[in-house]
Order: sequence, then C-alpha cells, then structure tokens
Amino acid sequence: MNIRQTAITLSILAILGSAPLQAGGRGAQNLQTSYTSELSAVETKALLFMREEEKLARDVYRNAYDTWEQPIFLNIASAEQRHMDAIAGRIAAYGLEDQDPVTDNTVGVFVDEELDELFKSLDTDASLSLMDALKTGAFIEEVDIDDLEQAIRDSDHPDVIRVYKNLLKGSRNHLRAFVRQIESLGGDAYESQFMEQDDVDMIVDQPMERRAGRRGR
Ligand code: ZN
Ligand code: ZN
Repeated sequence: MNIRQTAITLSILAILGSAPLQAGGRGAQNLQTSYTSELSAVETKALLFMREEEKLARDVYRNAYDTWEQPIFLNIASAEQRHMDAIAGRIAAYGLEDQDPVTDNTVGVFVDEELDELFKSLDTDASLSLMDALKTGAFIEEVDIDDLEQAIRDSDHPDVIRVYKNLLKGSRNHLRAFVRQIESLGGDAYESQFMEQDDVDMIVDQPMERRAGRRGR
C-alpha cells in the first residue's frame, strides 16, 4: 500500500471514529468487516420502520401542499424524499431490499398498520386549516426526532448512525420552520405536542443547522 492509499484509509477510519494506529491493510480489512456486519434484529426493525416514517412525513406534506399551496410543505416534502432515499441506501447496503416496506410509492400507502392509521388521522388534521396543517407538521417532526434518537441509541453501526444524525439535523430544521410559521400566523408561543416542552424550546431557540455547505433541510 502506498502512502496515499494509507492516508485515505486512515482518514476514512478517523471519520468512522475507530482509527487503530496500526491501520494499514489490516485496518482496511477491519473497516470492511465492521461496515457490512449484519444489523441486529432491533436495528433492522428500526431501519425499515424509519423508511416508512419518512414516507409518512413526505406524504402528509405533499397533500398539505396540494391543499394550502404554501412552499414550506413542498420544500420539506422534498427533504423527506431525500430522507427516504438515505434510508433506502442503508437498506441496500445491508442487502435488505426484499424487506423494504416501500413497494408502492403512492401517497398514503403504508405496510405498517400503525403508520397507516397515523397517516389517515394526520392527513385529516392537516386538511382542516393552514394552522392545523402547520401544527401537524410540527407534531410529525417531534415524533420523528424522538424515533431517530431512539434508533441512534439502539444502533452500533457508524454508517447507519451517521444517516440518522443527518436526518435528525433535517428534522430539527423542519421543526424550527413549522414553529416559526405557527407563531407568526397565530401569535402565541408554540406548545409542544409530543416531546417535552423544554426539549422543543431548546431546538427552536437554536438557528437553522447547515450540512455540507448547504441548508440542512
Ligand atoms: Zn425526515
Ligand atoms: Zn422532517
């Protein structure tokens, strides 16, 4: 292995947060193993569930955009499509394509019964008024943040955790965007609907987060 290859290997290991100093060829081998080692049953379940949960967000926002024609719903729906794609990337990386719950990409189609029920009720809520639609969006993001944090706690695969953390950043930005519009439309301070009020306030008080030189959302 020449110096350049060694440097690349070391930097990849550093990114993954597991850089044995005696890296070299053996380090690359270990990296390969840890990258593709199987997901646990809990990790697999979470990954497949998150794939559909991101779809639920996308679908509610797509319908909300059709109804209310506010760009916030269109912008965030396309971010949710990217979130779905990022999770599909991990599903493929672990050879789980045959278990991918999104076999029908149509808006409002879900395999998981819980998500199917949740979609129907949130979709109805979002159709009542623009304020209801914005509050539904904020609710979805609170649930999403909570589920992503749980999925991160349950995973020990750095590549999967990295994807979840990026989604988490996006979700915090989405929550900030919805809360800003709710407060400017209604005038009152936003009341949390799923997370603790303090945790929501802490997120909303922080500025939008960026990623890789562009907006996190
Ligand atoms: Zn998302
Ligand atoms: Zn979101």
